[in-house]
Parts: sequence; structure tokens; C-alpha cells
Amino acid sequence: MTAPVPKPWIMEIAPYIPGRATTDSGKKAIKLSSNENPLGTSPAAREAFASAAGRLERYPDASATELRDVLAAKYDLDPARIIYGNGSDEVLHLAAGAFAGQGDEVIFVHYGFAVYEIAARRVGAKPIVAPDKDYATDVDAILACVTERTRIVFIANPNNPTGTYASRAEIARLHAGLPSHVLLVLDHAYAEYIEGDVEDGGMELARSAPNVLVTRTFSKMYGLAAERIGWGYAAAPIIEAMHRIRLPFSITIAGTAAAIAALGDTGFVEHTAKHNAEWRRWFAQEIAKLGNAGLRAVPSQANFVLVLFEGRLTAEAAYKGLMDAGYIVRWLPGQGLPHGLRITIGTEDETRGVIAALRALAGA
Ligand SMILES: *Cc1c(COP(=O)(O)O)cnc(C)c1O
Repeated sequence: MTAPVPKPWIMEIAPYIPGRATTDSGKKAIKLSSNENPLGTSPAAREAFASAAGRLERYPDASATELRDVLAAKYDLDPARIIYGNGSDEVLHLAAGAFAGQGDEVIFVHYGFAVYEIAARRVGAKPIVAPDKDYATDVDAILACVTERTRIVFIANPNNPTGTYASRAEIARLHAGLPSHVLLVLDHAYAEYIEGDVEDGGMELARSAPNVLVTRTFSKMYGLAAERIGWGYAAAPIIEAMHRIRLPFSITIAGTAAAIAALGDTGFVEHTAKHNAEWRRWFAQEIAKLGNAGLRAVPSQANFVLVLFEGRLTAEAAYKGLMDAGYIVRWLPGQGLPHGLRITIGTEDETRGVIAALRALAGA
């Protein structure tokens, strides 16, 4: 008797490894491993979530009309061209599912978000990894990877796990250099954390170009990771194709209510952005002081910093030492970063604490 045989391209997927919440010994620790909002969630969002408890017997609105209308008003978009999903992860999968398949190629950068490779392999497409430029997105390297089989280019900007940011000019150059049949997916999961008036122009491209999809999420700045609400914007034919394979009810009533309330609480968002910018700067300065011990912070525009260990203290030893000290950060050997730790900017106490622990480990 033969057992069911998974598709060979499915068995080539390395399972996604989520950020841990407990230490090796099973103890709860301070979690700086998943880029969640250390300040929590807008109280208005929590209240909206709780009030949805009276509607548990109902299916959600499959067309998410209210959420689309609120997003459209906030960002000056056409609500008909908004897609939504179970986190922006689902939206990324929808893009791969609608626009790539066997025999096609999907490009992303060397230190890119792990979901891109999974989304590409899931549909049988071939992942193509473009080299980085000192951990940052290298537009020329990406363009050099393009062939007639390329269907999608995935870029997170700011990028995860590096935190690096490609400028508006670089994104424009990338888009201009791509053949028009290639879908450019600009993942803006961390767009709210960019400091200064330096948007990458992605939403303008999504408004005007036929081949650009921008994705956004409520999981990071809005503090709603538990509720899995993401969305995207692109030309109507792109969105229409993605809707055909979307699960009919992929976003929940409570999550949608919380997301809408969170969008309205601009005070919470401003407070989070200010907190993050202040402590991200402080964190990078403190890592710079540990330069003698071989530590280096990759410049970040996100809510985390990638710390490289190029001296006697290895990233692995620091990862374990931080865990013993009660801090869980992200060590990413599976993503080509055995020499780096990605550390989320936490509360003031958490950020001071993780730096103090690193300083002790570095013997400084
Ligand atoms: C966290 C993250 C997402 C968002 O995931 P959700 O599914 O919306 O929670 C998307 N892209 C990148 C690069 C991320 O780091």
C-alpha cells in the first residue's frame, strides 16, 4: 500500500520558525523575538475587540466593506482595490498563488523575510536569492536576477531581519528596471517606523502602476499581532485575481473591529513611533560602544535592530547568555545569519536590561 505523496516542491519547504516565548528550560522570559509592540495595543482597539463578543454566531462580512472604506479614507485609496487577509502573510501567499507557479521564478533578497521563500515554493515556483549589499537591498543585484521566467519580486522595506531601508529613488529605479510582466511586491510591515519624511513611494506606485502591490499589517505598530489582520493595495486586475483564491472568511469580526478602532487612535501610533525611534537610537549607540568586543548594529528603520557579532563573543553564545538572563531574541542561523541576533526594541526597562546583559556577556 502506498501512502499519499506530498508534492516534491512542498517537501523542499523549510518550516517557518516563529519567535520563541519561553527559554530552553521552559521559563517565561521577556520576548524580544517577534517585533511585537512593547507598549501593547490601543485601548480603543481592545474595547472594540471585546464588544464583538456578542456576535460570535455570525460569519464576518466576506467583503470587509467597513475596513476597506476606513483604510481608503485614511490613505486616499480606491476601496475596490484593497485586498485583505489573515495577516499580511496571507496577502503575500495570495500574490504568489495568483501570479507564480511551476516553472516560474520568484526573487527576493539574501537576508529577506522567510515567508517569501515559503510562498514561492508552495506554488512550485523557483526561489531566486539576490545578493545583498552589506545587509541592505541591492537593486542592481535584483535586476541582474530577472529572466523571462521571473513573475514576482518580493521586497520588505524596511527589511526584516536586517532593518535596512531602500530609498524612494532606489525603489523607483527597481520598478523602472523591471519588465512590466513582473509583479513588484513592496512589503510595508514596518513602514510606520520610518523616521523622517522619507516614504519609499511604494503606495504612489501601487496607485499608478499596473504591477505593484503594497502590503501592510496591523501586527506591528498597531499592536494587533494576535488578531491577524493584513491588507494590500494594487491595480484592480491584480486584486481581482487574488480575490479568486482568498479564503472567503479569512479575517474575523473581532479583529476587524479592533483594527478599525486602532486606525482611529492616532495618539497611540504617534506615541509608539516616538518611543521606538528614541530607544532604537539609544540601543544602536550602546551597541556602538561595544564595537571593541566586535558588536555592530546594522542601521535600522524598523522596530528591531540586527546586531552582528564579529569578535570573540559569538551570536550563539550571546543568544544563550541572553536567554539565561531572561531575554529571548531571534538567532537566525537558518536565514544565513549565524553571526547575528535580531532584537526587538522593547519598553525602556527591557531595552536597558537587554543592553546591560549584552554588555556583561561582552565583558565590557
Ligand atoms: C511581521 C511581518 C509581516 C506581517 O505579518 P502578519 O502576517 O501581518 O502578522 C510581514 N512582512 C514582514 C517583513 C514582517 O516582518
